[in-house]
Amino acid sequence: QARVESLGIATYQQGEDERYLRELMIIRDLPIALAQGQLHLVFQPKVNIQSNHCHGAETLIRWQHPELGFIPPDEFIRLAENSGNISMISDWVLNTTIKQLAQWQLQGISLTVAINLSAHDLTNPQLPLDIEKLLISNHLPINALSIEVTEGAVMKDAQTVIAVLQQFRNIGLAIAIDDFGTGHSSLAYLKLLPVNEVKIDRSFIKDIHTDATDLMIVDSSIRLIKGLNLSVVAEGVESVEGINILRGLNCDIIQGYVYSKPLKADDFIVWFQQFNQS
Ligand code: C2E
Ligand code: CA
Ligand code: CA
Ligand code: CA
Repeated sequence: QARVESLGIATYQQGEDERYLRELMIIRDLPIALAQGQLHLVFQPKVNIQSNHCHGAETLIRWQHPELGFIPPDEFIRLAENSGNISMISDWVLNTTIKQLAQWQLQGISLTVAINLSAHDLTNPQLPLDIEKLLISNHLPINALSIEVTEGAVMKDAQTVIAVLQQFRNIGLAIAIDDFGTGHSSLAYLKLLPVNEVKIDRSFIKDIHTDATDLMIVDSSIRLIKGLNLSVVAEGVESVEGINILRGLNCDIIQGYVYSKPLKADDFIVWFQQFNQS
């Protein structure tokens, strides 16, 4: 018995050590990954289900590590936030997105791409002006870019963050609240935040065709959001049934596998042009 127990502890300890080593490796290798081009962006369409038109996409980061393989963004973004490296990533995402948008514009394609920003980015009062300059110097309209922020990011330092968000709004950039419903004081903050769009979290959407409680939550959320004159996005829709239910609930925009998984730039544009032609 004693032996089994100590083995159990040894195994647990080993698992912990492995996880810790993996995290150290990820934090150590992030700057290298950026320098060596191991990161790339993928794009997932946001489809207006009332007009059946796609106006743009959300861009999501991908990292193929030479030894660890694919590392989920949830994992390395969290580590980058905790190790103080997130602004390096956000800068890269911003610059890479702008380059891509400029290239698309040369091909006569105009659309809006949303980037995800972290709490730390939103404490930089310089960021809105930097982004505006970047758009202007690349001859892009302000609405080529929009930003997504979570409620959690806002609550870290609400006063500072709200001031920065207000700056973004003054410039004319659209702001979406991400993962709506998973934060702590969604309702109070909706009233305070200068946002244009609210994205209802996938956890409420995924079972909407079978779960009456989720349906009710989503129905009331949409009424509330639209009542505040904001645009509403349902995240993570995987079935046509889901589209039909959400259209009936007056949802504006859907993002989910039912339309497309996040795609590399070239594949996304093929999808985008085909979808908007049909
Ligand atoms: P998010 O911003 O909420 O992004 C939506 C996530 O849902 C993405 O996961 C997307 O691939 C996934 N998704 C979309 N539709 C469906 C669907 O129909 N079914 C399922 N099962 N999943 C769907 P991903 O790309 O793994 O990103 C996870 C999170 O990592 C993001 O959540 C975001 O918080 C963070 N992230 C990703 N890229 C960036 C980035 O460039 N910057 C920052 N700060 N965070 C990022
Ligand atoms: Ca997002
Ligand atoms: Ca989300
Ligand atoms: Ca999320």
